[in-house]
Amino acid sequence: MNRRDLLRRLGISSVAAVGWGAGVTGGMGAQTAVNQPAGSGSAEGSGFQSHTISPRTSMPHRANPTLVRGKVIQPQREIPILHQTDVLVVGGGSAGVVAAIAARRTGAEVTLVERYGHFGGLWTGGLVVLITGHIVKGGKQVCQGIGEEIMQRLEKLDGGIIDRRPGVDPTVDAEAAKYLMVEMVEEAELKVFLHCWGVDAIVRDNEVLGVVFESKAGRHAVLAKVVVDATGDGDIFATAGAEFEHRSHNIGLVSRVGNLDRIEPPPEAAAKVKEIMRRLGRPTPVTGVHWVNMRGPEADGLDLETLTRMELNHRKFIWRHLQQVRSQPGFERLYLVETAPQLGVRITRVLLGVSMVRWSDMEAGVQLPDVVGYGGGTAREWPIPYGSLVPEKLDNLLAAGRCIAAEMRMADLVRLIPNCFVTGHAAGVAAAVAVQDGCRPRDVDVKKVQRILREQGAYLG
Ligand SMILES: Cc1cc2nc3c(=O)[nH]c(=O)nc-3n(C[C@H](O)[C@H](O)[C@H](O)COP(=O)(O)OP(=O)(O)OC[C@H]3O[C@@H](n4cnc5c(N)ncnc54)[C@H](O)[C@@H]3O)c2cc1C
Repeated sequence: MNRRDLLRRLGISSVAAVGWGAGVTGGMGAQTAVNQPAGSGSAEGSGFQSHTISPRTSMPHRANPTLVRGKVIQPQREIPILHQTDVLVVGGGSAGVVAAIAARRTGAEVTLVERYGHFGGLWTGGLVVLITGHIVKGGKQVCQGIGEEIMQRLEKLDGGIIDRRPGVDPTVDAEAAKYLMVEMVEEAELKVFLHCWGVDAIVRDNEVLGVVFESKAGRHAVLAKVVVDATGDGDIFATAGAEFEHRSHNIGLVSRVGNLDRIEPPPEAAAKVKEIMRRLGRPTPVTGVHWVNMRGPEADGLDLETLTRMELNHRKFIWRHLQQVRSQPGFERLYLVETAPQLGVRITRVLLGVSMVRWSDMEAGVQLPDVVGYGGGTAREWPIPYGSLVPEKLDNLLAAGRCIAAEMRMADLVRLIPNCFVTGHAAGVAAAVAVQDGCRPRDVDVKKVQRILREQGAYLG
């Protein structure tokens, strides 16, 4: 057996976990899944395989930072190029997944890179499972296109979504959403790298040429003709030098509580029960399981000490709060299903774009010439100008999702999941058009982008 054969074999055997072992080789395109119970029942049994890949090795391409007169200095180093692509989408949240699929459907080679092991970002990892923001007064739905396709496909999954009726905000199952996104990403034949954290933009003369990623295998570069920053926090445009507004916002932590269908409070406690239930969130597609939102205190979501404190405090608070509820007669069977793996950071960096999403545009009901979508979640639909995705000065990069350019009073609408689908869709199509036409994203033919968006089912007024 040569090394390649061994690695191939390791790909299908090394990730076996308790309960089910699923192996994947050859990236998203060539998938060989071996799903089989590991041992008897759920116990860690025998039958696993392990080999030495290399008997003695060390990390290649190292150039360790060192201490020079009390300062940590990073020496010059070469970073291996992992991949080259037309459109690189960084961040696999609701905006990033839609952006990547849209760019691919428009004809570009697309690479999607995500720091965690699943897609969906706050929507799934943050357990933000309530979809709001696609409807305006009168029940009209303004979020269409790939976002609406996702909703329709969730409807076809057993237990994928509830309350999916015109004019109503549906709630999804996070696992169903994760599953569906894998399916859609595979169908689109995207090149995917998970477990890769974008840490630096590669920039020459104000043009973004790609991104440097950090992973368990060290640092690598992905070169691209256009980069879409869908990290939610604008990590890539920030490291590339684009200007942004740094905002604070409420930081919460979502959780799920189970056995809501098994509470048996005494009839005389009806008033108290109503008050308790108010704090136990909303139903999900899983019977008896509610998701519980948390506003949390306003804080800086880029500050490491703050993020650490919030994670610790919120998890403590949720556990203790539930114990308190369980001490009430009839509520003893409630249990904490989980706290979201991902902290609920709402807004941090907001791009300073060529233009921005404005309250006055909504109020005036203007028809912007460069509109690439409409958002909802309030009485009237509001236009999203293409310029809100384009940095003022930086080239070859577009933003999508909760970090696009938006006035403070519009940001709470812009960040809603369906509106992230919409800006992701627009950024993906525009990035692919820029590649096709060999121009900078700021110079794309917006009419062409609008035509393709309409062809892909988007609503542009
Ligand atoms: C507590 C809370 C409650 C909310 N309630 C609602 C609600 O009821 N309804 C609603 O519609 N919306 C709600 N929202 C808003 C909504 O969930 C988010 O704004 C939306 O999901 C953001 O999507 P996004 O794709 O822009 O960003 P994210 O979901 O943050 O996705 C960004 C993705 O990029 C990845 N990433 C980040 N940095 C890097 C990096 N450097 N390199 C590689 N990958 C990276 C992340 O892992 C993630 O997958 C809520 C948000 C919070 C926090």
